[in-house]
Amino acid sequence: MRQAIIHAPGDVRVEERDRPTVLKPTDAILRVSAACVCGSDLWPWRGIEPVGDAHAMGHEYAGIVEEVGSEVTTIRPGQFVVGSFFASDNTCEICRAGYQSRCVHAELVGGAQGEYLRVPLADGTLVATPTLPDDDLIPSLLTASDVLGTGWFGAVAAEAGPGRTVAVVGDGAVGLLAVLAAKQLGAERIIAMSRHATRQELALEFGATDIVTTRGDAGVAEIKDLTGGLGAHSVIEAVGTQESMMQAIRATRPGGHVGYVGVAHGVELPGMELFFSVVHLHGGPAPVRRFLPDLIDRILRREINPGKVFDLTLSLDEAAEGYRAMDERRAIKTLLKP
Ligand SMILES: [Zn+2]
Repeated sequence: MRQAIIHAPGDVRVEERDRPTVLKPTDAILRVSAACVCGSDLWPWRGIEPVGDAHAMGHEYAGIVEEVGSEVTTIRPGQFVVGSFFASDNTCEICRAGYQSRCVHAELVGGAQGEYLRVPLADGTLVATPTLPDDDLIPSLLTASDVLGTGWFGAVAAEAGPGRTVAVVGDGAVGLLAVLAAKQLGAERIIAMSRHATRQELALEFGATDIVTTRGDAGVAEIKDLTGGLGAHSVIEAVGTQESMMQAIRATRPGGHVGYVGVAHGVELPGMELFFSVVHLHGGPAPVRRFLPDLIDRILRREINPGKVFDLTLSLDEAAEGYRAMDERRAIKTLLKP
């Protein structure tokens, strides 16, 4: 089968690899319907994270079950399924509390930018649709695997809801889908922070009521101006840098909530400032599995169209161009057709 492999920063090649097989009796093998490039895939592409030894890329997936191990009971060959980038048993105490990304048996799912994929803990990890979905819904269902689930967690962690003003730091796919989530959760006012016209447009379509084009201290000042000097009730941080994290904390009013879902790179919090901010901080790798059944239902009912974040569709063989386009911010998110 063909699979995207990273050899060095900026060097992703689609190569012939062995098809994955059932290694554990709890595994499932999927035929990938659509794959994509994640903002977090750009960290190794840029050389900010180690590349590893010929590492298979991709952790967002939706596809048809090809084969299951002997202990898999609820997932069957032929089903269309979506899963999270962390496999989870969905039965341990942490999972039952809704934090499946930190399941005591959590395992990262990798190699999704390929034709076939092995998913561990299939019964706990995968959610099947009742019937095979229409083709036009597949991009949206794919977003549920990570970017939608992550944006949704950011909004939930920031306690976005009725009567709340929500600000979103970051206009990548996760930030834009956090706008969509905040809207769906009933937020009264949603401020998207973006300097890019096409992303602003999508943010407005997803439910943003205001756009702030400044960042850093100027961005914080603008959020305060829009909120009577107080700051937002809820701020979603969807970047993962020192600047974006401090921007999120400083844009939140005392007693408010920051939902941070950008993978942190070099972020250090100043203790004294944190102490006097009196904000709630909650975030981390999103427990996407918690939200999957609800998100899949909303997509199948065509209430939300998160697949709109894919503004570039390429064949799997063109994966490298998909990375390049996102790195250069020519594309919000790249869908790869195996
Ligand atoms: Zn668990």
